[in-house]
Amino acid sequence: MEPTAKSEITLQGIAASRGIAHGQVFLYLQSELEIPQYTVDPDKRSAEIARFEQALLVTRQQISQIQDLVTKNLGPEEALIFDAHQLVLEDQALIGETIRDFEKSGLNIETCFNAVAQRYIQAFAEIDDEYLRERAADIKDVAKRVLHVLLGQSALSLSDLVEKRIIVARDISPSEAASIDRSAALGIVTDAGSRTSHAVIVARSMKIPAVVGTTDLTTQVQNGDWVLVDGYEGCVIINPTEQTLLRYGKIQKAQESFESRLLALNELAAETLDGVTVPLRANIEKPDEVGLVRQYRASGVGLYRTEFLFLSAEKMPTEDQQYAAYKEIVAGLAPAPVTIRTLDVGGDKPLPGDPHLVGPETNPFLGFRAIRLCLEHPEMFKNQLRAILRASAHGTVELLYPMISGPEELDRANALLAEARAELAQRGQAFDPAMRVGAMIEIPSAALAGDLLAGKCDFFSIGTNDLIQYLFAIDRGNSRISHLYDPTHPVVLRVLKQILSAGHEHKLKVSVCGEMAGDALYAPLLLGLGVDELSMTPTLLPAVKYIIRAMKMSDARALAAEALRQTDPKKTATLVEAFYRERVKVD
Ligand code: PEP
Ligand code: MG
Repeated sequence: MEPTAKSEITLQGIAASRGIAHGQVFLYLQSELEIPQYTVDPDKRSAEIARFEQALLVTRQQISQIQDLVTKNLGPEEALIFDAHQLVLEDQALIGETIRDFEKSGLNIETCFNAVAQRYIQAFAEIDDEYLRERAADIKDVAKRVLHVLLGQSALSLSDLVEKRIIVARDISPSEAASIDRSAALGIVTDAGSRTSHAVIVARSMKIPAVVGTTDLTTQVQNGDWVLVDGYEGCVIINPTEQTLLRYGKIQKAQESFESRLLALNELAAETLDGVTVPLRANIEKPDEVGLVRQYRASGVGLYRTEFLFLSAEKMPTEDQQYAAYKEIVAGLAPAPVTIRTLDVGGDKPLPGDPHLVGPETNPFLGFRAIRLCLEHPEMFKNQLRAILRASAHGTVELLYPMISGPEELDRANALLAEARAELAQRGQAFDPAMRVGAMIEIPSAALAGDLLAGKCDFFSIGTNDLIQYLFAIDRGNSRISHLYDPTHPVVLRVLKQILSAGHEHKLKVSVCGEMAGDALYAPLLLGLGVDELSMTPTLLPAVKYIIRAMKMSDARALAAEALRQTDPKKTATLVEAFYRERVKVD
Protein backbone atom coordinates (compact mmCIF):
# COMPACT_ATOMS: atom_id res chain seq x y z
CA MET A 1 0.00 0.00 0.00
CA GLU A 2 1.16 3.53 -0.71
CA PRO A 3 1.46 5.51 2.50
CA THR A 4 -0.09 8.95 2.19
CA ALA A 5 -0.18 9.86 5.86
CA LYS A 6 3.35 11.31 5.93
CA SER A 7 3.57 14.92 4.90
CA GLU A 8 4.43 15.84 1.36
CA ILE A 9 7.78 17.54 0.75
CA THR A 10 8.88 19.05 -2.56
CA LEU A 11 12.54 19.42 -3.45
CA GLN A 12 13.59 21.49 -6.41
CA GLY A 13 16.42 20.21 -8.56
CA ILE A 14 17.29 20.42 -12.23
CA ALA A 15 15.08 18.84 -14.89
CA ALA A 16 17.39 16.35 -16.55
CA SER A 17 15.35 13.79 -18.45
CA ARG A 18 11.71 14.31 -19.42
CA GLY A 19 8.92 12.28 -17.94
CA ILE A 20 7.12 11.60 -14.68
CA ALA A 21 7.79 8.64 -12.45
CA HIS A 22 6.10 7.56 -9.25
CA GLY A 23 7.49 4.74 -7.19
CA GLN A 24 9.50 3.55 -4.24
CA VAL A 25 13.05 4.61 -3.52
CA PHE A 26 16.10 2.46 -4.12
CA LEU A 27 18.73 4.34 -2.16
CA TYR A 28 22.08 3.88 -3.83
CA LEU A 29 24.73 5.14 -1.44
CA GLN A 30 28.22 4.27 -2.47
CA SER A 31 29.60 5.73 0.74
CA GLU A 32 33.20 5.35 1.75
CA LEU A 33 33.15 2.59 4.32
CA GLU A 34 33.63 3.80 7.85
CA ILE A 35 35.71 1.25 9.66
CA PRO A 36 35.41 1.36 13.43
CA GLN A 37 38.58 0.69 15.41
CA TYR A 38 38.52 -1.04 18.79
CA THR A 39 40.49 -3.53 20.84
CA VAL A 40 39.26 -7.10 21.05
CA ASP A 41 39.33 -8.72 24.50
CA PRO A 42 41.95 -11.47 24.68
CA ASP A 43 39.28 -14.11 25.39
CA LYS A 44 37.41 -13.15 22.22
CA ARG A 45 40.38 -13.31 19.88
CA SER A 46 39.80 -16.77 18.48
CA ALA A 47 36.17 -15.86 17.81
CA GLU A 48 37.42 -12.75 15.97
CA ILE A 49 39.61 -14.91 13.71
CA ALA A 50 36.66 -17.23 13.09
CA ARG A 51 34.57 -14.16 12.16
CA PHE A 52 37.23 -13.22 9.62
CA GLU A 53 37.30 -16.71 8.12
CA GLN A 54 33.54 -16.74 7.92
CA ALA A 55 33.56 -13.37 6.13
CA LEU A 56 36.04 -14.72 3.57
CA LEU A 57 33.75 -17.67 2.99
CA VAL A 58 30.64 -15.53 2.56
CA THR A 59 32.50 -13.21 0.18
CA ARG A 60 33.63 -16.23 -1.85
CA GLN A 61 30.01 -17.36 -2.15
CA GLN A 62 28.90 -13.86 -3.15
CA ILE A 63 31.52 -13.67 -5.87
CA SER A 64 30.55 -17.12 -7.20
CA GLN A 65 26.95 -15.97 -7.45
CA ILE A 66 27.91 -12.83 -9.35
CA GLN A 67 30.20 -14.89 -11.56
CA ASP A 68 27.31 -17.23 -12.45
CA LEU A 69 25.06 -14.27 -13.20
CA VAL A 70 27.63 -12.54 -15.40
CA THR A 71 28.39 -15.80 -17.23
CA LYS A 72 24.68 -16.19 -17.92
CA ASN A 73 24.10 -12.57 -18.99
CA LEU A 74 27.34 -11.56 -20.64
CA GLY A 75 29.27 -14.76 -21.28
CA PRO A 76 32.22 -16.59 -19.71
CA GLU A 77 34.86 -14.12 -21.00
CA GLU A 78 33.35 -11.27 -19.00
CA ALA A 79 33.17 -13.48 -15.91
CA LEU A 80 36.88 -14.30 -15.93
CA ILE A 81 37.71 -11.30 -13.80
CA PHE A 82 35.98 -12.98 -10.89
CA ASP A 83 38.50 -15.83 -10.99
CA ALA A 84 41.12 -13.21 -10.15
CA HIS A 85 38.89 -11.97 -7.34
CA GLN A 86 38.57 -15.47 -5.91
CA LEU A 87 42.35 -15.79 -5.99
CA VAL A 88 42.66 -12.69 -3.82
CA LEU A 89 40.46 -14.38 -1.24
CA GLU A 90 42.75 -17.38 -1.25
CA ASP A 91 45.91 -15.29 -1.01
CA GLN A 92 47.69 -16.76 2.03
CA ALA A 93 50.06 -13.80 2.29
CA LEU A 94 47.17 -11.32 2.61
CA ILE A 95 45.24 -13.51 5.05
CA GLY A 96 48.31 -14.56 7.05
CA GLU A 97 49.50 -10.98 7.41
CA THR A 98 46.07 -9.85 8.60
CA ILE A 99 45.99 -12.52 11.29
CA ARG A 100 49.56 -11.74 12.36
CA ASP A 101 48.72 -8.02 12.59
CA PHE A 102 45.64 -8.88 14.61
CA GLU A 103 47.56 -11.12 17.02
CA LYS A 104 50.16 -8.41 17.49
CA SER A 105 47.87 -5.38 17.86
CA GLY A 106 44.69 -6.92 19.28
CA LEU A 107 42.72 -4.44 17.14
CA ASN A 108 39.48 -5.59 15.52
CA ILE A 109 39.89 -7.66 12.37
CA GLU A 110 38.34 -5.03 10.04
CA THR A 111 41.03 -2.55 11.04
CA CYS A 112 43.84 -5.09 10.53
CA PHE A 113 42.48 -6.43 7.25
CA ASN A 114 41.93 -2.93 5.87
CA ALA A 115 45.46 -1.86 6.80
CA VAL A 116 47.04 -4.92 5.17
CA ALA A 117 44.85 -4.63 2.06
CA GLN A 118 45.73 -0.93 1.70
CA ARG A 119 49.47 -1.81 1.90
CA TYR A 120 49.01 -4.38 -0.86
CA ILE A 121 46.96 -2.03 -3.03
CA GLN A 122 49.60 0.67 -2.67
CA ALA A 123 52.47 -1.73 -3.42
CA PHE A 124 50.80 -3.17 -6.54
CA ALA A 125 49.73 0.24 -7.77
CA GLU A 126 53.31 1.43 -7.82
CA ILE A 127 54.66 -1.49 -9.87
CA ASP A 128 55.52 -0.61 -13.44
CA ASP A 129 53.73 -3.59 -14.95
CA GLU A 130 50.23 -3.37 -16.30
CA TYR A 131 49.21 -6.88 -15.23
CA LEU A 132 50.38 -6.43 -11.66
CA ARG A 133 48.84 -2.98 -11.45
CA GLU A 134 45.50 -4.53 -12.31
CA ARG A 135 45.90 -6.73 -9.26
CA ALA A 136 45.63 -3.56 -7.15
CA ALA A 137 42.14 -2.98 -8.58
CA ASP A 138 41.22 -6.62 -7.84
CA ILE A 139 42.39 -6.39 -4.23
CA LYS A 140 40.57 -3.10 -3.77
CA ASP A 141 37.33 -4.55 -5.05
CA VAL A 142 37.56 -7.74 -2.99
CA ALA A 143 38.72 -5.93 0.17
CA LYS A 144 35.66 -3.70 -0.04
CA ARG A 145 33.41 -6.73 -0.29
CA VAL A 146 35.06 -8.46 2.67
CA LEU A 147 34.77 -5.30 4.76
CA HIS A 148 31.11 -4.94 3.86
CA VAL A 149 30.49 -8.50 5.02
CA LEU A 150 32.47 -7.99 8.25
CA LEU A 151 30.52 -4.83 9.00
CA GLY A 152 27.23 -6.48 8.13
CA GLN A 153 26.49 -4.05 5.30
CA SER A 154 25.56 -5.12 1.83
CA ALA A 155 27.69 -3.82 -1.02
CA LEU A 156 25.20 -2.19 -3.33
CA SER A 157 25.38 -2.27 -7.06
CA LEU A 158 23.03 -0.65 -9.53
CA SER A 159 22.78 -3.94 -11.34
CA ASP A 160 21.26 -5.34 -8.08
CA LEU A 161 18.15 -3.36 -8.86
CA VAL A 162 15.62 -5.83 -10.17
CA GLU A 163 12.31 -4.51 -8.87
CA LYS A 164 10.85 -1.36 -10.40
CA ARG A 165 12.24 1.46 -8.27
CA ILE A 166 13.37 5.06 -8.37
CA ILE A 167 17.13 5.24 -8.00
CA VAL A 168 18.18 7.93 -5.54
CA ALA A 169 21.93 8.53 -5.32
CA ARG A 170 24.44 11.20 -4.46
CA ASP A 171 25.96 10.81 -7.90
CA ILE A 172 26.22 8.12 -10.55
CA SER A 173 29.40 7.55 -12.52
CA PRO A 174 29.26 6.90 -16.28
CA SER A 175 30.16 3.23 -15.86
CA GLU A 176 27.56 2.80 -13.09
CA ALA A 177 24.99 4.47 -15.33
CA ALA A 178 25.82 2.00 -18.07
CA SER A 179 24.84 -0.89 -15.76
CA ILE A 180 21.31 0.40 -15.10
CA ASP A 181 18.54 -1.91 -16.25
CA ARG A 182 15.89 0.15 -18.04
CA SER A 183 13.09 -2.18 -17.06
CA ALA A 184 13.85 -1.79 -13.35
CA ALA A 185 14.69 1.92 -13.14
CA LEU A 186 11.48 3.95 -13.02
CA GLY A 187 13.34 7.19 -12.45
CA ILE A 188 16.71 8.56 -11.42
CA VAL A 189 17.46 11.32 -8.93
CA THR A 190 20.93 12.46 -7.95
CA ASP A 191 21.88 15.05 -5.37
CA ALA A 192 24.83 16.12 -7.52
CA GLY A 193 25.05 16.49 -11.28
CA SER A 194 23.82 18.76 -14.03
CA ARG A 195 21.93 18.51 -17.29
CA THR A 196 25.06 17.39 -19.11
CA SER A 197 26.33 14.79 -16.61
CA HIS A 198 26.86 11.47 -18.30
CA ALA A 199 24.40 9.65 -16.07
CA VAL A 200 21.80 12.09 -17.34
CA ILE A 201 22.74 11.50 -20.95
CA VAL A 202 22.29 7.77 -20.33
CA ALA A 203 18.93 8.39 -18.61
CA ARG A 204 17.74 10.42 -21.57
CA SER A 205 18.79 7.77 -24.06
CA MET A 206 16.84 5.19 -22.03
CA LYS A 207 13.87 7.54 -21.60
CA ILE A 208 14.08 7.34 -17.82
CA PRO A 209 12.69 10.45 -16.11
CA ALA A 210 15.49 12.11 -14.16
CA VAL A 211 16.10 15.03 -11.83
CA VAL A 212 19.57 16.05 -10.66
CA GLY A 213 21.00 18.58 -8.24
CA THR A 214 18.58 17.86 -5.38
CA THR A 215 21.41 18.55 -2.89
CA ASP A 216 20.25 16.37 0.00
CA LEU A 217 17.41 14.10 -1.09
CA THR A 218 19.56 11.12 -0.08
CA THR A 219 19.38 12.27 3.53
CA GLN A 220 15.62 12.82 3.43
CA VAL A 221 14.44 9.48 2.13
CA GLN A 222 14.88 5.85 2.96
CA ASN A 223 14.60 2.69 0.95
CA GLY A 224 10.96 2.04 0.15
CA ASP A 225 9.72 5.63 0.59
CA TRP A 226 7.33 6.82 -2.10
CA VAL A 227 8.48 9.67 -4.33
CA LEU A 228 7.34 11.33 -7.50
CA VAL A 229 9.96 12.47 -10.02
CA ASP A 230 8.99 15.33 -12.31
CA GLY A 231 11.57 15.33 -15.09
CA TYR A 232 9.84 18.25 -16.82
CA GLU A 233 9.99 20.78 -14.01
CA GLY A 234 12.95 19.26 -12.19
CA CYS A 235 11.35 18.54 -8.84
CA VAL A 236 10.98 15.55 -6.59
CA ILE A 237 8.00 15.14 -4.31
CA ILE A 238 8.42 12.94 -1.26
CA ASN A 239 5.21 11.26 -0.05
CA PRO A 240 2.99 12.80 -2.74
CA THR A 241 -0.64 13.22 -1.66
CA GLU A 242 -3.59 11.81 -3.61
CA GLN A 243 -4.23 15.32 -4.89
CA THR A 244 -0.69 15.68 -6.20
CA LEU A 245 -0.88 12.29 -7.84
CA LEU A 246 -4.12 13.28 -9.51
CA ARG A 247 -2.62 16.53 -10.79
CA TYR A 248 0.41 14.70 -12.11
CA GLY A 249 -1.79 12.07 -13.67
CA LYS A 250 -3.32 14.83 -15.81
CA ILE A 251 0.07 16.33 -16.69
CA GLN A 252 1.34 12.91 -17.63
CA LYS A 253 -1.68 12.27 -19.84
CA ALA A 254 -1.21 15.57 -21.68
CA GLN A 255 2.50 14.85 -22.09
CA GLU A 256 1.83 11.34 -23.33
CA SER A 257 -0.58 12.60 -25.94
CA PHE A 258 2.02 15.19 -27.00
CA GLU A 259 4.68 12.47 -27.17
CA SER A 260 2.43 10.34 -29.36
CA ARG A 261 1.92 13.33 -31.64
CA LEU A 262 5.70 13.61 -31.80
CA LEU A 263 6.11 9.97 -32.67
CA ALA A 264 3.65 10.39 -35.53
CA LEU A 265 6.29 12.61 -37.15
CA ASN A 266 8.77 9.78 -37.31
CA GLU A 267 8.30 9.08 -40.99
CA LEU A 268 8.30 12.75 -41.98
CA ALA A 269 11.34 14.83 -42.91
CA ALA A 270 12.94 17.35 -40.56
CA GLU A 271 11.96 20.11 -42.92
CA THR A 272 11.13 23.71 -42.02
CA LEU A 273 7.98 25.45 -43.29
CA ASP A 274 10.15 27.31 -45.81
CA GLY A 275 11.60 24.11 -47.19
CA VAL A 276 15.01 23.70 -45.49
CA THR A 277 15.81 20.12 -44.52
CA VAL A 278 17.97 19.77 -41.43
CA PRO A 279 20.04 16.61 -40.97
CA LEU A 280 19.32 15.23 -37.51
CA ARG A 281 21.74 12.62 -36.30
CA ALA A 282 21.96 10.50 -33.18
CA ASN A 283 24.42 10.38 -30.30
CA ILE A 284 25.11 6.83 -29.18
CA GLU A 285 27.33 5.09 -26.69
CA LYS A 286 26.93 1.41 -27.49
CA PRO A 287 26.50 -0.74 -30.60
CA ASP A 288 23.12 -1.96 -29.36
CA GLU A 289 21.74 1.55 -29.80
CA VAL A 290 21.74 1.11 -33.58
CA GLY A 291 18.12 0.00 -33.21
CA LEU A 292 17.24 3.35 -31.62
CA VAL A 293 18.98 5.24 -34.43
CA ARG A 294 16.79 3.41 -36.92
CA GLN A 295 13.65 3.65 -34.81
CA TYR A 296 13.89 7.44 -34.62
CA ARG A 297 14.91 7.74 -38.28
CA ALA A 298 18.13 9.63 -37.56
CA SER A 299 20.08 10.49 -40.70
CA GLY A 300 23.14 8.84 -39.21
CA VAL A 301 25.23 8.95 -36.06
CA GLY A 302 26.73 12.33 -35.27
CA LEU A 303 28.57 11.20 -32.18
CA TYR A 304 29.51 7.70 -31.14
CA ARG A 305 31.20 8.01 -27.74
CA THR A 306 33.62 5.09 -27.98
CA GLU A 307 34.81 5.50 -24.40
CA PHE A 308 31.89 3.39 -23.17
CA LEU A 309 33.52 0.39 -24.80
CA PHE A 310 36.51 1.09 -22.60
CA LEU A 311 34.62 2.12 -19.48
CA SER A 312 32.65 -1.08 -19.28
CA ALA A 313 35.62 -3.35 -19.96
CA GLU A 314 38.03 -4.64 -17.35
CA LYS A 315 40.89 -4.39 -19.84
CA MET A 316 41.70 -2.16 -22.79
CA PRO A 317 39.75 -3.54 -25.75
CA THR A 318 42.06 -4.82 -28.47
CA GLU A 319 42.07 -3.51 -32.03
CA ASP A 320 40.00 -6.50 -33.15
CA GLN A 321 37.45 -6.11 -30.34
CA GLN A 322 37.08 -2.43 -31.18
CA TYR A 323 36.83 -3.17 -34.88
CA ALA A 324 34.01 -5.65 -34.21
CA ALA A 325 32.04 -3.05 -32.22
CA TYR A 326 32.59 -0.25 -34.74
CA LYS A 327 31.83 -2.47 -37.70
CA GLU A 328 28.54 -3.58 -36.12
CA ILE A 329 27.39 0.04 -36.00
CA VAL A 330 28.81 1.16 -39.35
CA ALA A 331 27.59 -1.85 -41.33
CA GLY A 332 24.26 -1.80 -39.48
CA LEU A 333 23.55 1.77 -40.57
CA ALA A 334 25.30 1.89 -43.97
CA PRO A 335 25.18 3.95 -46.10
CA ALA A 336 24.18 6.46 -43.40
CA PRO A 337 27.26 8.19 -41.95
CA VAL A 338 28.60 7.28 -38.52
CA THR A 339 30.85 9.73 -36.70
CA ILE A 340 33.15 7.76 -34.44
CA ARG A 341 34.82 9.83 -31.76
CA THR A 342 38.17 8.64 -30.48
CA LEU A 343 38.63 7.86 -26.80
CA ASP A 344 37.45 10.67 -24.53
CA VAL A 345 38.31 9.50 -21.02
CA GLY A 346 39.51 11.41 -18.00
CA GLY A 347 37.65 14.26 -16.32
CA ASP A 348 34.16 13.01 -15.57
CA LYS A 349 34.86 9.69 -17.29
CA PRO A 350 37.65 7.91 -15.38
CA LEU A 351 38.77 4.56 -16.74
CA PRO A 352 37.76 2.09 -14.02
CA GLY A 353 39.83 -0.76 -15.41
CA ASP A 354 43.09 1.11 -15.47
CA PRO A 355 43.13 4.06 -13.12
CA HIS A 356 46.87 4.40 -13.54
CA LEU A 357 46.72 5.40 -17.16
CA VAL A 358 45.35 8.75 -16.07
CA GLY A 359 46.47 8.66 -12.44
CA PRO A 360 45.30 10.90 -9.62
CA GLU A 361 45.00 14.53 -10.65
CA THR A 362 44.17 17.68 -8.73
CA ASN A 363 42.17 19.02 -11.65
CA PRO A 364 40.95 16.10 -13.77
CA PHE A 365 38.78 18.30 -16.01
CA LEU A 366 41.83 20.30 -16.94
CA GLY A 367 44.05 17.28 -16.91
CA PHE A 368 45.52 14.44 -18.85
CA ARG A 369 42.43 13.44 -20.77
CA ALA A 370 41.00 12.55 -24.18
CA ILE A 371 43.29 13.44 -27.10
CA ARG A 372 46.05 14.50 -24.69
CA LEU A 373 46.19 11.02 -23.22
CA CYS A 374 45.92 9.37 -26.64
CA LEU A 375 48.78 11.40 -28.10
CA GLU A 376 51.02 10.28 -25.24
CA HIS A 377 50.02 6.64 -25.77
CA PRO A 378 50.42 6.38 -29.54
CA GLU A 379 50.23 2.59 -29.66
CA MET A 380 46.94 2.53 -27.77
CA PHE A 381 45.65 5.39 -29.93
CA LYS A 382 46.73 3.75 -33.18
CA ASN A 383 44.93 0.56 -32.13
CA GLN A 384 41.77 2.59 -32.07
CA LEU A 385 42.55 4.50 -35.27
CA ARG A 386 43.21 1.26 -37.16
CA ALA A 387 40.00 -0.26 -35.78
CA ILE A 388 38.00 2.80 -36.94
CA LEU A 389 39.70 2.81 -40.35
CA ARG A 390 38.95 -0.88 -40.81
CA ALA A 391 35.30 -0.24 -39.93
CA SER A 392 35.23 2.50 -42.58
CA ALA A 393 35.43 -0.23 -45.23
CA HIS A 394 31.89 -1.29 -44.25
CA GLY A 395 30.00 1.96 -44.72
CA THR A 396 30.46 5.68 -44.22
CA VAL A 397 32.67 6.63 -41.31
CA GLU A 398 33.67 10.05 -40.08
CA LEU A 399 36.37 10.20 -37.46
CA LEU A 400 36.21 12.80 -34.72
CA TYR A 401 38.94 13.87 -32.29
CA PRO A 402 37.75 15.07 -28.85
CA MET A 403 39.17 17.93 -26.77
CA ILE A 404 41.36 19.43 -29.47
CA SER A 405 42.91 22.57 -27.98
CA GLY A 406 44.81 23.84 -31.00
CA PRO A 407 46.36 23.11 -34.40
CA GLU A 408 49.44 21.30 -33.03
CA GLU A 409 47.32 18.59 -31.47
CA LEU A 410 45.34 18.19 -34.66
CA ASP A 411 48.61 17.83 -36.61
CA ARG A 412 49.90 15.21 -34.19
CA ALA A 413 46.65 13.25 -34.28
CA ASN A 414 46.58 13.38 -38.08
CA ALA A 415 50.20 12.20 -38.25
CA LEU A 416 49.28 9.13 -36.18
CA LEU A 417 46.25 8.59 -38.40
CA ALA A 418 48.56 8.64 -41.43
CA GLU A 419 50.75 6.02 -39.73
CA ALA A 420 47.67 3.90 -38.96
CA ARG A 421 46.61 4.09 -42.61
CA ALA A 422 50.11 3.07 -43.78
CA GLU A 423 50.15 0.14 -41.35
CA LEU A 424 46.83 -1.14 -42.64
CA ALA A 425 47.95 -0.73 -46.23
CA GLN A 426 51.01 -2.77 -45.41
CA ARG A 427 48.88 -5.46 -43.79
CA GLY A 428 46.66 -5.42 -46.86
CA GLN A 429 43.57 -4.55 -44.81
CA ALA A 430 40.79 -2.49 -46.38
CA PHE A 431 39.72 0.98 -45.28
CA ASP A 432 38.06 4.00 -46.83
CA PRO A 433 40.88 6.31 -47.99
CA ALA A 434 38.40 9.20 -48.23
CA MET A 435 37.23 8.92 -44.60
CA ARG A 436 36.46 12.42 -43.36
CA VAL A 437 38.16 13.69 -40.24
CA GLY A 438 36.72 16.24 -37.83
CA ALA A 439 37.64 18.12 -34.70
CA MET A 440 35.42 18.60 -31.69
CA ILE A 441 35.28 22.26 -30.81
CA GLU A 442 34.74 22.18 -27.08
CA ILE A 443 37.72 24.03 -25.62
CA PRO A 444 37.70 27.83 -25.83
CA SER A 445 41.19 27.91 -27.38
CA ALA A 446 39.93 25.72 -30.24
CA ALA A 447 36.88 27.93 -30.63
CA LEU A 448 39.16 30.93 -31.06
CA ALA A 449 41.48 29.01 -33.39
CA GLY A 450 38.76 27.91 -35.81
CA ASP A 451 40.60 29.41 -38.80
CA LEU A 452 43.82 27.60 -37.83
CA LEU A 453 42.07 24.26 -37.43
CA ALA A 454 39.86 24.51 -40.48
CA GLY A 455 42.62 23.75 -42.97
CA LYS A 456 43.55 20.59 -41.12
CA CYS A 457 40.21 18.77 -40.98
CA ASP A 458 36.99 18.20 -42.91
CA PHE A 459 34.35 19.24 -40.36
CA PHE A 460 33.78 20.73 -36.94
CA SER A 461 31.50 19.29 -34.30
CA ILE A 462 30.74 21.67 -31.46
CA GLY A 463 30.58 20.04 -28.04
CA THR A 464 28.53 22.61 -26.17
CA ASN A 465 28.61 20.58 -22.94
CA ASP A 466 32.32 21.06 -22.51
CA LEU A 467 32.55 24.33 -24.40
CA ILE A 468 30.18 26.04 -21.94
CA GLN A 469 31.87 24.32 -19.01
CA TYR A 470 35.26 25.68 -20.03
CA LEU A 471 34.02 29.09 -21.15
CA PHE A 472 32.59 29.84 -17.72
CA ALA A 473 34.95 27.65 -15.68
CA ILE A 474 32.06 25.62 -14.26
CA ASP A 475 32.38 21.92 -13.58
CA ARG A 476 29.52 20.45 -15.62
CA GLY A 477 28.76 17.88 -12.93
CA ASN A 478 28.54 20.31 -10.02
CA SER A 479 24.93 21.19 -9.24
CA ARG A 480 25.85 24.10 -6.96
CA ILE A 481 27.14 26.14 -9.88
CA SER A 482 24.87 24.79 -12.57
CA HIS A 483 22.89 28.07 -12.61
CA LEU A 484 25.95 29.55 -14.35
CA TYR A 485 25.56 27.04 -17.15
CA ASP A 486 23.64 29.20 -19.56
CA PRO A 487 23.41 28.28 -23.24
CA THR A 488 21.73 31.60 -24.06
CA HIS A 489 24.48 33.76 -22.55
CA PRO A 490 25.80 36.32 -25.08
CA VAL A 491 29.28 34.85 -24.69
CA VAL A 492 28.06 31.43 -25.82
CA LEU A 493 26.26 32.89 -28.82
CA ARG A 494 29.28 34.97 -29.84
CA VAL A 495 31.61 32.00 -29.57
CA LEU A 496 29.23 29.79 -31.55
CA LYS A 497 29.01 32.46 -34.23
CA GLN A 498 32.79 32.71 -34.40
CA ILE A 499 33.23 28.93 -34.80
CA LEU A 500 30.53 28.87 -37.50
CA SER A 501 32.12 31.75 -39.43
CA ALA A 502 35.57 30.14 -39.36
CA GLY A 503 34.22 26.77 -40.41
CA HIS A 504 31.98 28.08 -43.16
CA GLU A 505 34.66 30.36 -44.55
CA HIS A 506 36.69 27.19 -45.13
CA LYS A 507 33.63 25.35 -46.48
CA LEU A 508 33.48 22.98 -43.53
CA LYS A 509 30.29 21.47 -42.22
CA VAL A 510 29.68 22.60 -38.64
CA SER A 511 27.47 20.47 -36.45
CA VAL A 512 26.54 20.57 -32.77
CA CYS A 513 26.52 17.35 -30.76
CA GLY A 514 26.31 18.70 -27.20
CA GLU A 515 23.07 18.43 -25.23
CA MET A 516 22.03 21.89 -26.46
CA ALA A 517 21.38 20.35 -29.90
CA GLY A 518 18.78 17.96 -28.49
CA ASP A 519 16.88 20.64 -26.64
CA ALA A 520 13.89 21.68 -28.74
CA LEU A 521 14.07 25.11 -27.11
CA TYR A 522 17.59 25.82 -28.37
CA ALA A 523 17.55 24.00 -31.70
CA PRO A 524 15.97 26.97 -33.58
CA LEU A 525 18.61 29.30 -32.16
CA LEU A 526 21.44 27.01 -33.25
CA LEU A 527 19.98 26.58 -36.72
CA GLY A 528 19.38 30.30 -37.00
CA LEU A 529 23.02 30.91 -36.15
CA GLY A 530 23.95 28.73 -39.10
CA VAL A 531 24.59 25.27 -37.62
CA ASP A 532 24.41 22.72 -40.46
CA GLU A 533 23.47 19.62 -38.51
CA LEU A 534 22.29 18.62 -35.04
CA SER A 535 23.15 15.42 -33.24
CA MET A 536 21.36 14.26 -30.11
CA THR A 537 20.23 11.36 -27.96
CA PRO A 538 17.88 9.46 -30.30
CA THR A 539 14.87 9.76 -28.00
CA LEU A 540 15.03 13.56 -28.27
CA LEU A 541 14.83 13.56 -32.05
CA PRO A 542 11.01 13.73 -32.38
CA ALA A 543 10.72 16.88 -30.22
CA VAL A 544 13.44 18.65 -32.22
CA LYS A 545 11.87 17.54 -35.48
CA TYR A 546 8.54 18.89 -34.25
CA ILE A 547 9.83 22.43 -33.75
CA ILE A 548 11.77 22.31 -37.04
CA ARG A 549 8.60 21.39 -38.89
CA ALA A 550 6.71 24.14 -37.10
CA MET A 551 9.13 26.98 -37.90
CA LYS A 552 10.55 28.87 -40.84
CA MET A 553 14.32 28.95 -41.16
CA SER A 554 14.04 32.66 -41.96
CA ASP A 555 12.35 33.17 -38.56
CA ALA A 556 15.06 31.17 -36.82
CA ARG A 557 17.68 33.39 -38.48
CA ALA A 558 15.83 36.47 -37.27
CA LEU A 559 15.68 34.95 -33.77
CA ALA A 560 19.44 34.33 -33.80
CA ALA A 561 20.15 37.84 -35.08
CA GLU A 562 18.02 39.33 -32.33
CA ALA A 563 19.60 37.05 -29.71
CA LEU A 564 23.07 38.16 -30.82
CA ARG A 565 22.08 41.77 -30.19
CA GLN A 566 21.02 41.06 -26.60
CA THR A 567 23.31 41.76 -23.70
CA ASP A 568 21.06 40.26 -21.02
CA PRO A 569 20.97 36.45 -21.10
CA LYS A 570 17.53 36.48 -19.43
CA LYS A 571 16.07 38.43 -22.34
CA THR A 572 17.58 35.94 -24.79
CA ALA A 573 16.08 33.08 -22.80
CA THR A 574 12.67 34.80 -22.97
CA LEU A 575 13.00 35.29 -26.73
CA VAL A 576 13.94 31.66 -27.24
CA GLU A 577 11.09 30.45 -25.08
CA ALA A 578 8.55 32.68 -26.81
CA PHE A 579 9.71 31.39 -30.20
CA TYR A 580 9.07 27.85 -29.02
CA ARG A 581 5.75 28.45 -27.23
CA GLU A 582 4.31 30.27 -30.25
CA ARG A 583 4.86 27.15 -32.32
CA VAL A 584 4.42 24.20 -29.97
CA LYS A 585 1.33 23.47 -27.93
CA VAL A 586 1.50 20.59 -25.47
CA ASP A 587 -2.17 20.17 -24.64
C1 PEP B 1 30.29 17.84 -25.41
O1 PEP B 1 31.23 18.11 -24.67
O2 PEP B 1 29.40 18.67 -25.72
C2 PEP B 1 30.15 16.49 -25.99
C3 PEP B 1 29.25 16.22 -26.89
O3 PEP B 1 30.96 15.52 -25.53
P1 PEP B 1 30.80 14.77 -24.11
O4 PEP B 1 29.44 15.13 -23.56
O5 PEP B 1 30.96 13.34 -24.39
O6 PEP B 1 31.93 15.36 -23.31
MG1 MG C 1 32.95 16.80 -24.51
